[in-house]
Amino acid sequence: MARKVLALAEIRDGSLRNVSFEAIAAAKIIAQGGEVVSVLAGESVQSYANELFFHGADRVVVVEHSHLTHYTPDGYSQALMAVIDEEKPEGIVFGHTALGKDLSPKLATKLNSGLVSDVVSVEEEGGNLIFTRPIYSGKAFEKKIATDGLIFVTVRPNNIPPLERDESRSGEVKAISADIKDLRTIVKEVVRKTTEGVDLSEAKVIVAGGRGVKSAEGFKPLQELAEVLGGAVGASRGACDAGYCDYSLQIGQTGKVVTPDLYIACGISGAIQHLAGMSNSKVIVAINKDPEANIFKVADYGIVGDLFEVVPLLTEEFKKL
Ligand code: FAD
Repeated sequence: MARKVLALAEIRDGSLRNVSFEAIAAAKIIAQGGEVVSVLAGESVQSYANELFFHGADRVVVVEHSHLTHYTPDGYSQALMAVIDEEKPEGIVFGHTALGKDLSPKLATKLNSGLVSDVVSVEEEGGNLIFTRPIYSGKAFEKKIATDGLIFVTVRPNNIPPLERDESRSGEVKAISADIKDLRTIVKEVVRKTTEGVDLSEAKVIVAGGRGVKSAEGFKPLQELAEVLGGAVGASRGACDAGYCDYSLQIGQTGKVVTPDLYIACGISGAIQHLAGMSNSKVIVAINKDPEANIFKVADYGIVGDLFEVVPLLTEEFKKL
């Protein structure tokens, strides 16, 4: 059954987040030959439309308003409701990001629709759409079938590969106006704790440190390795609680859930709550002094040794490549 499916694009620091392209890829599967319409919401965002076409969007709709410069639940839900009214889609895909996790249930509830969240793959089988999502902190996967009605979906970053970029693609850009009013919150200013580096939830490589790193200074060799690999630095809650790094780096059940191509765990014991946030990484390398550490049970490659010796060696070797 061909469907019209919307895919919400997200912009951060002046660039489209990769999850915008992953949402298009998921929307293509859900659309089953139908139309995929990317949605851009913000202030002066139309210039991002081309990149969405290059990644597979058939059409782009743009909602521009001064109240959409920063995300607010009220502002964005009014913008998206205007798009839904106009486009009458059969599916809507969001990234499973802070924005998508906040906005999608709000809209699904308003429209009395179902929501399949944190999807890691979508397949079509015998006319049914099958959504796979992790449950029990990633220890098992469940498959959900969408029956009828409007389908709301959030896709976990780094799981559904974006379509190959094709600069020959183009399409129609349509502006939709939304009457955005009665906002209960207005963002006046965004103060970022960290301004540099790769976004942790979208990073292809993560070098994470635990209590074994021993100090804020101890994170330096991990930062160097991450830089050489073009990756991001993450942390266990142990390291955050000890004050070695900011909580925005925490990975795990109560932190960020990540699925990079390569996860290098340094001085992390592998508590179940940490594994909940990283065990679905494609390749896991663990560096730990204790050969019995639990992290080795999920690691593809284990290095028993002192991280302060091993990490600089790895950095030197990767620099040569
Ligand atoms: P430790 O368990 O202290 O491990 C340190 C490791 O470093 C040890 O294995 C040690 O052998 C090794 N080491 C020490 N020195 C070196 C060295 N020089 N070289 C190499 N290895 C060395 N934790 C999370 O990470 N994320 C979460 O989201 C999270 N949520 C939680 C939610 C709840 C409700 C609860 C109760 C706990 C949660 N935790 C979470 C905490 C979790 O249970 C662990 O306490 C925490 O993950 C331990 O962090 P760690 O592995 O860095 O420290």
